[in-house]
Amino acid sequence: MNKNKNHKRISLKVQASSLPKDKQTSFSFLVKQDGEDFFYRLEVGGERAEDTHSWKPGALSLERVACEVYGFKAAENFIVARVAENEDGSSSLVDTAYILEKDMQLRFFSVKEKEGLAVYRHTSAHVMAYALSSIYPEVKLAIGPVIEDGFYYDIDELQLKQENFEAIEEKMAEIIRLGYVNERVELSRKEALELFQEQPYKVEIIRDLPENETISVYKMGDFIDLCRGPHLPNIKSIKAFKLLRLAGAYWRGSEKNKMLTRIYATSFEHEKELRLYIKHREEAALRDHNRVGREMGLFVSDEYVGKGLPLFTPQGNILLQTLKSFVEKEERKRGYMHTLTPYLAKSSLYKISGHWQHYKESMFVISGDDELALRPMTCPFHFTLYNSKRHSYRDLPVRYAETSVLFRNEDSGEMHGLTRVRQFTLADGHVICTPEQVQAEFESCLELLMHILSVLEIKDYTFRLSRWDKKDSGKKYIDNPVMWERTEALIEAILRDNKITYYEGIGEAAFYGPKLDIQTKNTYGKEDTLLTVQIDFALPERFKMFYMNNNNEKKEPVVIHRSSIGCYERTLALLLENCKGKLPFWLIPSQIAVLSVQESVHDYVKEIVQNLLQADLRVKANIENEALSKKIKLAQKEKTFYMVIVGEKELATKTLSVRMRSGKTISGLSLKDFREICRNLEESKENLCLLSEKRVNTDIKVNFIE
Ligand SMILES: [Zn+2]
Ligand SMILES: [Zn+2]
Repeated sequence: MNKNKNHKRISLKVQASSLPKDKQTSFSFLVKQDGEDFFYRLEVGGERAEDTHSWKPGALSLERVACEVYGFKAAENFIVARVAENEDGSSSLVDTAYILEKDMQLRFFSVKEKEGLAVYRHTSAHVMAYALSSIYPEVKLAIGPVIEDGFYYDIDELQLKQENFEAIEEKMAEIIRLGYVNERVELSRKEALELFQEQPYKVEIIRDLPENETISVYKMGDFIDLCRGPHLPNIKSIKAFKLLRLAGAYWRGSEKNKMLTRIYATSFEHEKELRLYIKHREEAALRDHNRVGREMGLFVSDEYVGKGLPLFTPQGNILLQTLKSFVEKEERKRGYMHTLTPYLAKSSLYKISGHWQHYKESMFVISGDDELALRPMTCPFHFTLYNSKRHSYRDLPVRYAETSVLFRNEDSGEMHGLTRVRQFTLADGHVICTPEQVQAEFESCLELLMHILSVLEIKDYTFRLSRWDKKDSGKKYIDNPVMWERTEALIEAILRDNKITYYEGIGEAAFYGPKLDIQTKNTYGKEDTLLTVQIDFALPERFKMFYMNNNNEKKEPVVIHRSSIGCYERTLALLLENCKGKLPFWLIPSQIAVLSVQESVHDYVKEIVQNLLQADLRVKANIENEALSKKIKLAQKEKTFYMVIVGEKELATKTLSVRMRSGKTISGLSLKDFREICRNLEESKENLCLLSEKRVNTDIKVNFIE
């Protein structure tokens, strides 16, 4: 015990994951106040003789703790820390200037860790706002959060163009060179409102803060921004940054509010990382389905139709229909019966299913006497069909499938190309079975999913076991802990039996049960659910579903919800990105284009087209009076699999010259042989994303797919 009442001992458990494990340990500090002045010292061993020289002036900040514990050099790398009063207590991220006044557990982070990088980028956003407001004093600032690979700032009353980026970046570099310290100041509500009176969005944020919330601002140079922090201690450490693009975004994500300008940007610890990131982004953009699909003429969108509502062209529809007939055939082979149920229903149906209680904000409700709503899922309709007749255990499993048009009221800011849309088509299905059949049926659903993935050559995916989150019981999830435990254990057992490696997603379950999700990443690395299989012990009870068992007693069945190819639009987006639009022969809308070199061959072109059409191939002629190079370009845009080029030579020899996607041309082919090659390809369904030579089941000894 220290006898001096002036002294206070602060015990700390300090960790820094960037340092070796043995560096994670306990320390004690003594702090004392002398008049207005504060002093601290690291306590080594027990009691120490009073030695004025060992005291250091200043309050005990995290920065000073890091210096004492790890040395000045190492401490420089720490930009933020997480502090917690006790082991189970809530923790928070704080600035390194944070003053310690009681016992704490703390962990330091450098920019190499996720937490540190977020603070680094968040501070970069403030620097960008500083630069904007010094170049354009009229700018109104809204919010500037960190996102997965960078940050953005929403601004108003400024017509920015990409051309302005350079000047903004130069200003940012200038501000960074000045090396401002981020100073935290806490204000009263009145002071804060007065300070930001010229900034209407900040005023709105302040007004919406809870009554007892601490209002803090951060000051760097003569720029002050509203923020709860934490930030980099000194902006000098920002080494590499770049403004990326502009977008429109509604204030607070609501269409009812004003559209603001969003500036996307990013920053990295090193210039080299930034350059690599930009290169990857440029490559990813070339694959973006939203660009590739539009260039190929598969879909368009229109502001009068609305956001998230793509219009598929005849070409795009061919693709969807081709996928659909493949999927429905695979489902039929596995005992599914296809249904056709209404796109909308009365709220009474969704009240039974629980959608009304748990999902209403994502539904389109049509006001009127009947209170109708567009369907977000097919389940309630399939259950109603099941209930329309009596079932004995001998009928089970009942496997319903539907190529189902569904509606979800996505946030306007969330929508993108074909991946986030308000109307979509789901290959939906429900297996209604006895509890004894669940495992086998679940595995058979998995087999269907795996088969579809393999035909589509989708290889890059992971399994996620999506669990509920107890704390949202009754709100986000049906309140039945026993049911949750049982179903999650069942899926776990199936995964184990099938030796499937997976990761867990807490709070990612459906409201009625856990899911096994198959996760894929888009071209920019963003993860999404492609396919899913779910066990549901809740909805059968709500819908009073039953079957008669062999003792003629009423029993409750179990439902498996599953999608086979998932949402057609989203899966199509992934396919387009995987192969930059160079879809395999069986999928590509433009399989063959027959191009004439001159008018004299038109009759021969028509003969070729007729012949190939008879073989059920997708073929069209281009006999326009244009240069061949122009016709080739047009066919390339649609990623046409084969171009058949017909000139005088081909007419004279009654042969074909076939140009492949690689640009390589093979001449002297007979129409009969070419037709056979195409038919074989059409039937093989296994040539997705072919980039070079691959097996083709044909007698012709040429490498025919490039
Ligand atoms: Zn901030
Ligand atoms: Zn369902």
